[in-house]
Amino acid sequence: MKQHCDLIVVGAGSAGLPAAIFAAQGGARVLQIEADSRVGGTLYWSSGQISAAGTRQQAALGIEDSAEEHYQDAQRIAHGGIDPVLGRLATGNAAETLHWLMDLGLQLAPETPVAGMVHEPYATRRYVWGSEQGISILKVIEPAHRELVASGAIDLRLQTRMTGLLTSKSGAVIGVRAETTAGQALEFHAPRVALTTGGYAANPELWNEVTPWPLHSHCNPYSRGEGIIAAREIGAMVDHTDRFLCTFAGFLTEPGNPLSAWFFSLAPAYRAPWEIYVDGQGKRFLREDHPSIHYSESALLNQPGMRMVMVFDEGIRQNAPEMGVLNKQGRDLRPDFNTHPAFQKADSIEELAGRFDIPPANLAAAAQRYNDAVDNRNDPEFNRLFLPRRIEKPPFYGIEAVGVTVISPGGLNVNQHLQVLGKSGAPISGLYAAGEILGFTRLSGAAFVGGMSLMPAMSFGRLIGQQAAAQLQARAA
Ligand SMILES: Cc1cc2nc3c(=O)[nH]c(=O)nc-3n(C[C@H](O)[C@H](O)[C@H](O)COP(=O)(O)OP(=O)(O)OC[C@H]3O[C@@H](n4cnc5c(N)ncnc54)[C@H](O)[C@@H]3O)c2cc1C
Repeated sequence: MKQHCDLIVVGAGSAGLPAAIFAAQGGARVLQIEADSRVGGTLYWSSGQISAAGTRQQAALGIEDSAEEHYQDAQRIAHGGIDPVLGRLATGNAAETLHWLMDLGLQLAPETPVAGMVHEPYATRRYVWGSEQGISILKVIEPAHRELVASGAIDLRLQTRMTGLLTSKSGAVIGVRAETTAGQALEFHAPRVALTTGGYAANPELWNEVTPWPLHSHCNPYSRGEGIIAAREIGAMVDHTDRFLCTFAGFLTEPGNPLSAWFFSLAPAYRAPWEIYVDGQGKRFLREDHPSIHYSESALLNQPGMRMVMVFDEGIRQNAPEMGVLNKQGRDLRPDFNTHPAFQKADSIEELAGRFDIPPANLAAAAQRYNDAVDNRNDPEFNRLFLPRRIEKPPFYGIEAVGVTVISPGGLNVNQHLQVLGKSGAPISGLYAAGEILGFTRLSGAAFVGGMSLMPAMSFGRLIGQQAAAQLQARAA
């Protein structure tokens, strides 16, 4: 079965929704296919924190800012790792996207704008969010999209998964192959296809093939990299997959299932660490109370398996503030000690080390040196400043934590028009891409630059939609 339209948008998440909306509003016939049974994609998971410069909100607060300052500041945090063309395109379009969201009704949280939140702060207050994280954004975009679907301007096919791209003899993309959940095979034809299928952090096979760090993922299960795979099949360039920064830190709720990661709340900004963190050899490897979470993330990234063990004793358990070892439902995980492999409790430090396959003498020595540092109010190894109490009172506790993935690092490369590039660097005719399919590190480097995934996804989706409509209007004129 074949169908024709002006633009096919594959995916109806953060990038796909604006792409379809702006194209349809500009008069294009849009067909949108979405594998899930609902629209929204990662907006259901995302913290929804976005950044923009030169906004109405900043002006009202008297904050002077510009897109170029936003770009330069983002590059500073990313240690120069942002693609300059796409970085400027993202920062240059962020305010317009934010104003669009605000015009649709997005209420910014009253505590915003801020310079930063957990990760490295910007030099200027340009970081904002709604009160319900990503859902706040979905709640304003979805009605606009629904209206266009109801009017017939967008032909939305839910539970319809793109399985491949159709190309002409010259190699131009002319449509997509798809399959419904009921197993019906479909073909859709259009002169433009926009891939907005998100990242690949829910696809362990692809992750292990292209990204040389273990996968402990917390993301949308539809982030299976199917757009990347389809584009790669027709010769698209896939890069930046070997740059990465993990999130600090979490554990696999289902041991052995890389897609079951959940977080501990370990940022010193929220709670000073009472525990010591040791590596697989039982040695401390970082300053646990370092104020920069980027420092901790980078240190954990370099550990074999991105793994560490947080060690404490009964005295700390009784006296330290809650460590935030909660599961997704908010249940305290401490009763899981000695039932979940990541949570172990033992009568001696040496026995505890054995539970994590750590050399016992090393862990005992690390605890001893740390206790000396507590006594002397001086940590010569790492200059830790927060030294609240010794680790000496049994039972001893250990929690294994790993670096977590929320966003996949690499993906398709595009030019300033968001055309997907082939391996030679030339654009593939008819093929566009926006969102996490481009790879997080392209717009954030190997760092977490505030809002530099979600905002570019929405802006680039908007630009693809506007371009499609403009081209049609130009042809008609
Ligand atoms: C826990 C978490 C917190 C985050 N917090 C932030 C934050 O605060 N700030 C920030 O900037 N970024 C954040 N991010 C990242 C950001 O939210 C995402 O990068 C962004 O939402 C991705 O948008 P997207 O449109 O590329 O993908 P998605 O929103 O995932 O949309 C892709 C859509 O494509 C569909 N799809 C996939 N494959 C197919 C197929 N074969 N056929 C048809 N449809 C398909 C999917 O079902 C999905 O609906 C966070 C991510 C996570 C997981």
